[in-house]
Order: sequence, then structure tokens, then C-alpha cells
Amino acid sequence: MTRVIDGKAIAAAMNDRTARSAAVLRERGVIPALAVLTPAGDESANWYVRSIERAAAGVGIDCRVHQLAPAADAALIRSKLGALSEDPAVHAVICQTPLPGGVAVAAVGSGIAAGKDVDGASPVSLGMLAAGLPGAFPPATAAAVMEILRHENVPLGGRRAVVIGRSTVVGKPAALLLLAQDATVTISHSRTRNLADVCREADVLVVAAGQPELVGAGHVAPGAVVIDVGINPASGGMVGDVSIKAVTGIASAITPVPGGVGPVTTAQLMSHTIRAALGIGLAR
Ligand code: NDP
Repeated sequence: MTRVIDGKAIAAAMNDRTARSAAVLRERGVIPALAVLTPAGDESANWYVRSIERAAAGVGIDCRVHQLAPAADAALIRSKLGALSEDPAVHAVICQTPLPGGVAVAAVGSGIAAGKDVDGASPVSLGMLAAGLPGAFPPATAAAVMEILRHENVPLGGRRAVVIGRSTVVGKPAALLLLAQDATVTISHSRTRNLADVCREADVLVVAAGQPELVGAGHVAPGAVVIDVGINPASGGMVGDVSIKAVTGIASAITPVPGGVGPVTTAQLMSHTIRAALGIGLAR
């Protein structure tokens, strides 16, 4: 029997808690505020930013969107992030991709102060996470993976965790967070040999490759918990990196796509924003 984890329900419970904290802040005269720097004219970025605006409005966070000119270069983007960070009325800053001219978030993220970097975009935040230092936020998606495992009471201490993907936004921080919970962690990637054999060693398999249905029955040990981070466009919707049909009956639990990690990621961003407004960063 494979349990399908309800990410929407987990997100709803998180958003309830966040809304209560936002209300307490507002009673104290603090309006929790999130600034989003986003490229102009990118339809998928616009769609995601609108979903952030809706989520923020739903929990009582003031969300301000700042559009970048198409000609913005790395220096300008970094300085805009710096200016938003320095605004005392702004508690949290995120930088939406794709950035103009193919600029990487990692190249400009250092403009965001660690205490306001609620999506872990700065190399400083990732370094603090790696060093186990307080005061920084992990990327929201990596934090969402951990929140789902926590919510589902999945034991991690001494267990084998395999992460597919080594990006700075998902794979690496997810691996660091699992390590901080005493899992024995393997990071795999496109050069990993015998991927299915590596994955079958996992008690917890986190898949963030961006490859539709990469993971099938041969990758999953009986009873493993599978967290599918992937979002891949498919005819009439989206699919994850895991074939849910193939692993049903093998995995003990799996997150669906859509309705798994995605909504929890947005809820995590909101939760981080409130923590930033309260002045509570977290490193793990
Ligand atoms: P990247 O493209 O930056 O990284 C993908 C990683 O997967 C790389 O490390 C790559 O290896 C590895 N990989 C690719 N193909 C294979 C393969 N065949 N076998 C093993 N490893 C492979 O993607 P992101 O980390 O940004 O995102 C991953 C997925 O998660 C995407 O589908 C993205 O849309 C989704 N996502 C979902 C979010 C959510 O909220 N649910 C938020 C963010 C991302 P190598 O390093 O060797 O190239």
C-alpha cells in the first residue's frame, strides 16, 4: 500500500500557522513585507509570482513585485536586491528566475542580506547552512522537502537518504538538511553510474532532476518514502520526475505532482517571511 502525501493539506496547515503569526505582528504594528524582484514579460515567472502574491494575501503578508528591465545586468540586479534588503520596511526578498541575459541567481544573490534571504538565494545562506550556523534560510523547496518528511513522521537519524540532483536551489541544500537530521546521504546526478542501484539503497529518495518520470519501479526499495520535486510540462498539465504508477505498491509513501512539494514550497516561503519579520532565521 502506497500512501499519496497530500501537499495541499500540509500547506494549508502551515498557512494557518503563518496567518496567525502575521496577525500577531500586525497587532504590534509590524506589517510583514515580502519584496519580489522578477523579470518583465516572462509568462512562467509571471504565473509563479501571481501565485506568491495570492499566497501572501491569504496569510496577511504585504507582497510588492518589482519588475526588472530586460536590459538589466548582474551589477544592476545585485544592487536592486541590495536596495530592497536595506529597506527597513521590507522583511524578505526573493529573486525570481529567469533573470535577464541568463544571469544566474547565485551570481547576484549575495545582494540579499542573509536575514532577509527567505529563499536561500545567496551563497552566504548556503554557506551558513553548510556550516550549521543560525541566521540564514535554506531555499524554500529544500525546506519544503524536510517539512513534508517531518509532517509524515519519517525517521531520518541513521537512515539512508538518496538525493537525485545537485543544484544549489534544491539538491545540495536538501542533502545538507537531511545530513543535519543525521541521515546518511548520497547525492546523485547525471554522471552517476547505475542510478537505479544507488536509489534502491534509499529509505528516503528525494528526486529533483527535472526529467519526466526518470524514476520507475527499479529505483525504489520496498517501503521507501519518495519525495518528487520535479515539475515537467506535459500535455494538458505537468508530471513529476517519478512515475507514480510504476512505484505504487513499492514505495510506502510518495508526493504527487501536482499537489505535493509545490504548495508546501510556497507555504514555506510565507513561513520564512514571517520568521524574517520576527528576526528569526534558521539554518537547518
Ligand atoms: P537543475 O536543472 O538545476 O538540476 C537538475 C539536477 O538533476 C542536476 O544536478 C543534474 O545533474 C541532475 N540530473 C539531470 N538529469 C539526470 C539524470 N538523468 N540522472 C540523474 N541526475 C540527473 O534543476 P533544479 O534543481 O532547479 O530543479 C529540479 C526539478 O525540480 C525541476 O523539475 C524543477 O522544475 C523542479 N523544481 C520544483 C520546485 C517546487 O517547488 N516543487 C522548485 C524548484 C524546482 P548534473 O548536475 O550532472 O547536470
